[in-house]
Amino acid sequence: MSNVNGDDTGKKKEKKRYYRKRVEFFKLLQKMKLWPSRKRILHGIKTMQVTGDQAWITTHCNETFLTNNSKNSRAARFLRNQWGYKACPVCKIPSWKLQKYGSTRFSQSYGSNLTDSEDY
Ligand SMILES: [Zn+2]
Repeated sequence: MSNVNGDDTGKKKEKKRYYRKRVEFFKLLQKMKLWPSRKRILHGIKTMQVTGDQAWITTHCNETFLTNNSKNSRAARFLRNQWGYKACPVCKIPSWKLQKYGSTRFSQSYGSNLTDSEDY
């Protein structure tokens, strides 16, 4: 994982977020607004248009693609397992967002299912 520099003032304790492993993938994407590409590059999601079990996603670097709502997809597993990644230089994901992602945990038995009104 890349080091997030420039913010070592972190006096406040890092708050961990817990989510259910079975949380709906699209909900997670809509809240996180992060997309891991096949090359393990983390992109920022600009827009996401859900139609049933599929969604069109456009990243900030203007990639558009269709994805399926599958908890077992590569991207879903990537987000849950926090595989190593590089942040896309074009998307310029803010470091607080990467830190937030880094402090997110997924648990079988504990955590939120992410309701619509809930803040990520
Ligand atoms: Zn990108």
